[in-house]
Amino acid sequence: MSLLTGLEKFGLQADEMQIYEKKDEKPVEKEVVKKEEKIPEETEFLLLKSVQCPVCEHKFKMISVKSGRLRRKEPDMDLRPRFYYIDTLKYDICACPNCGYTAMSRYFDSMSSLQRKLIKENVCDKFNAHNALNVEELKAYDYDTAVERYKLSLYNSIVKKAKISEKAYTCLKLAWMLYEQNEELTGKDEKTLEKKAACVKEADEFYEKAYDGFVEAIANEMYPICGMDQNTLDCLLAAMAFRLKKYDIASKMISSILVSRTASSKMKDKALDMKEEIIEALKKEEQ
Ligand SMILES: [Zn+2]
Repeated sequence: MSLLTGLEKFGLQADEMQIYEKKDEKPVEKEVVKKEEKIPEETEFLLLKSVQCPVCEHKFKMISVKSGRLRRKEPDMDLRPRFYYIDTLKYDICACPNCGYTAMSRYFDSMSSLQRKLIKENVCDKFNAHNALNVEELKAYDYDTAVERYKLSLYNSIVKKAKISEKAYTCLKLAWMLYEQNEELTGKDEKTLEKKAACVKEADEFYEKAYDGFVEAIANEMYPICGMDQNTLDCLLAAMAFRLKKYDIASKMISSILVSRTASSKMKDKALDMKEEIIEALKKEEQ
């Protein structure tokens, strides 16, 4: 019986009638077909740059990042930069294939005459020119290659008695890349698992070295340090201390960001988030 039974007398047949129209079961085909997003190749973000070595004057090509094409993602808590489709860190080292002089791009051209002498004696005179540093065409670096270039750069900065911050920053970037390499290795075979463990172990060591270096740098160097102002470096150190479970130091750095008159509100928000995470971590430890 329909709820409308009784209307027959008006000549209206309502037995089959529904008060509400039944929704069409078939999903309406969306007119807009979801556009398949084409994932760009890493090389689309790269370019070849001509460089002249400030030590041996050899001219060579290096692979660099087209900064205009990059789309930034939210960085990690410890300020590790993130971009869509590319890990730009891999391309931040400039290495002369002729003499072996290597540095982070920002430091490549500047050195004192004493540093030049130290590099000549301790790098160039011993260096075996190796194909691995020769760049003829655009290609994406894998992490093994990128890590190798950073290690060469770290070696150079030790030899030239670079500022502590320069070495710390190199260690930090090495750690970031090795952690990422571990993430990218997804195989479950024994060889891959061994490689993953080695990446993490090495990354942990570089991370700790970077932390020690930055702590020493803030006591001895003038800001900006590696291009970072005091608030940014406090933020970085807080996050690093947190990761290394040095919660008291992390809390101290966070407090200094929160009371800073020059820290941006975004940075203070970040510091507050970190404070919450420390409280959570401490709670977990107590359990
Ligand atoms: Zn050179």
